[in-house]
Amino acid sequence: MGGGAWQERNGWHYVGGPRRAGGWKVEIVMAGLPLQSCSALLTRGTERLLVDTGFSSHDSVLRDGLERVGVTPEQVTTVVNTHFHLDHIGCNAMFPAAQVYASRRDYEWAVPIYESVCGGETRREVFRTFYPEVTDEEFERMDQARVLQLIRWLWDPAMLGEMDRYRWIEETAWPFEGLRLIPTPGHTPGHVALEVDAEDGAYLVAGDARAFRDEAAVGLDMPPHNFAQYQESRRRLDAFRGIIVPGHDEPFQQDGTEAPAAEAARQHEGDSH
Ligand SMILES: [Zn+2]
Repeated sequence: MGGGAWQERNGWHYVGGPRRAGGWKVEIVMAGLPLQSCSALLTRGTERLLVDTGFSSHDSVLRDGLERVGVTPEQVTTVVNTHFHLDHIGCNAMFPAAQVYASRRDYEWAVPIYESVCGGETRREVFRTFYPEVTDEEFERMDQARVLQLIRWLWDPAMLGEMDRYRWIEETAWPFEGLRLIPTPGHTPGHVALEVDAEDGAYLVAGDARAFRDEAAVGLDMPPHNFAQYQESRRRLDAFRGIIVPGHDEPFQQDGTEAPAAEAARQHEGDSH
């Protein structure tokens, strides 16, 4: 899979490390809510990157949010998807001029889920295949959240737009200075976060590697595809100093010292990082 090489290139080691003033402006154009993913617009000069595009049903919310900051969908030059869940890719097609940076690994994992569910496979069978670690209790929770029904209602490959716009991050050089992709697998196999050298400090657009500020709200989110990877990714995000933009919550300042829960989990594992 060559994962190591691109992680090396894009840099775990940058998290929490020294940073330059990158001159990016960060604006939240769609607020992160439990059932609505956050969309962050990153602007520098003529470059306009939109991180995550919401459910397809959020098109007017997203359009209005862009309009508030004076940007039309046609002016968005780049879309970045933190991962391929439907609440983060739904309006990719709204940006015809944009190149889309996303994980091929995530794409190849997620689309078969949607096709299986839409093809009528039953809940537990299909989710066991793609979420091998999920417990019965978590199945019940997803069922209550009507995850499968949502997939059947919402999945339409047309939401992705033209596939020749996609630049798979595992295979493509990352051209944006002052923006660093941080592999954060676990929530999904190919999840990435984005570290931003902004005009007003350091930001980390976390996607669902950190969906909520309040950990008690985690139950609202999908269970991780791989819990050990998810925890490891969280440890890296917890070390970040600056403003965290969670996938489904409001941005908040993090001072880089770990939350007590994360510290306890680490000691429990006997991992003296
Ligand atoms: Zn997600």
